[in-house]
Amino acid sequence: MGDMVSPPTGIDLLKAELPVDQEAFVLNGDVKTGLVMVDLVNGFCTVGAGNLAPMQPDKQISGMIEESVRLARAFCDKKWPVFAFLDTHHRGVPEPPYPPHCIAGTDEANLVPELQWLENEANATLRRKDCIDGFIGCVEKDGSNMFVDWVVNNQIQAILVVGICTDICVLDFICSALSARNRGLLSPLQDVVVYSRGCATFDLPVRVARAAKDVIAHPQELMHHIGLYIAKGRGAKVVSEVTFS
Ligand SMILES: [Zn+2]
Repeated sequence: MGDMVSPPTGIDLLKAELPVDQEAFVLNGDVKTGLVMVDLVNGFCTVGAGNLAPMQPDKQISGMIEESVRLARAFCDKKWPVFAFLDTHHRGVPEPPYPPHCIAGTDEANLVPELQWLENEANATLRRKDCIDGFIGCVEKDGSNMFVDWVVNNQIQAILVVGICTDICVLDFICSALSARNRGLLSPLQDVVVYSRGCATFDLPVRVARAAKDVIAHPQELMHHIGLYIAKGRGAKVVSEVTFS
């Protein structure tokens, strides 16, 4: 009996039905690429930091931080453009359906300790946003869009997206960027690339959700996969490795 192959889990079966083919992404400098980092803030990434922070150490989230820091360091060393969203809300202004999180002026709304140095990098643009979709969060009072300006001013041809949550803020931003690109708003942008190991989402297993009131289950591995699957279906490229040549 010990030699038997274990039967496929529900997640294995769903992944087989919703395959996400991934390739390796090599940055050689020929295609002007910008790094977009979504919400690497304490309120989503640091254990115990708030209502939407992990309650215990989380492998997917710590791996996402590690890979994001590696890429941010490499982009900054090469003086390539980096754009970082920081989820930040005014106290007393709710963001349904979520509980209060990342309140302005608290450490929840600050970059994780491993990325604090980004604040002093000349080629990094930091943008606080008070909504899920960072593209919408970049709309200014005069109707201009700070993210559009960043792409156009830097003549960015590809964006590489990392961050949290794969199926929420990362996905919504990717979908909006793809629509904006298709409408010609982001010229010369061609490719929207999402790095699977550079993304993560939160874990709320179905057994925990069932025991709580008014909570929707959100199994981490599956929702991460579904986020990537939808991004790919909308036209993003999903990559499993990012290297520099
Ligand atoms: Zn938020």
